[in-house]
Amino acid sequence: MQDIIAGFLRFQAEVFPSRKQLFKELAKSQTPKALFISCSDSRMVPELVTQREPGDLFVIRNAGNIVPSFGPEPGGVSATVEFAVSALKVSDIVICGHSDCGAMKAIATCACLDTMPAVKTWLRYADAARMINEAKPHADERSRVDGMVRENVVAQLNNLRTHPSVALALAQGTLTLHGWVYDIESGSIDALDMEANRFVPLASHAAARRPEGA
Ligand code: ZN
Repeated sequence: MQDIIAGFLRFQAEVFPSRKQLFKELAKSQTPKALFISCSDSRMVPELVTQREPGDLFVIRNAGNIVPSFGPEPGGVSATVEFAVSALKVSDIVICGHSDCGAMKAIATCACLDTMPAVKTWLRYADAARMINEAKPHADERSRVDGMVRENVVAQLNNLRTHPSVALALAQGTLTLHGWVYDIESGSIDALDMEANRFVPLASHAAARRPEGA
């Protein structure tokens, strides 16, 4: 804990003064353009891998980058999605999975989660992905986990579309959804090509070639 406190003191003394103007503007309002949904995993840092500044990303992080489908008892994730879309009017939502995801590993390897009942229940929101991934052939465990990570991103995008605010913004053409998978070891990102229904390197994805604002 001491290094976390030391980090803050360094931020306060060195970083904050040099960015004072930015924080002064941010003190009054925020206008993030994107909602970024990723795993709580310590190795997946949205602002670092996208080189974004404070104020740029509205972020949801949880175990397995999961978005429960909309239902009669919406929880924290649903409320945050709704706020981002309806109040902040973000133009893009990224769901970003990652390699070596503990949550996806537990599902793909059918790990016993009896001692973690909350995790076990939470990961049920990835059931559709689990069913699809299990129906596919896998050469080894690594391939099974990688497949689960990807299918989970697809499943969570589908869950996201069940949210009324998201459905409305998609129908009005004011929102675009993106599915990404970040590889920790190589630092690369694969993005879902929704028309071809497969993941391609983000650098060669159509979204990367689109001019800003398009
Ligand atoms: Zn994870």
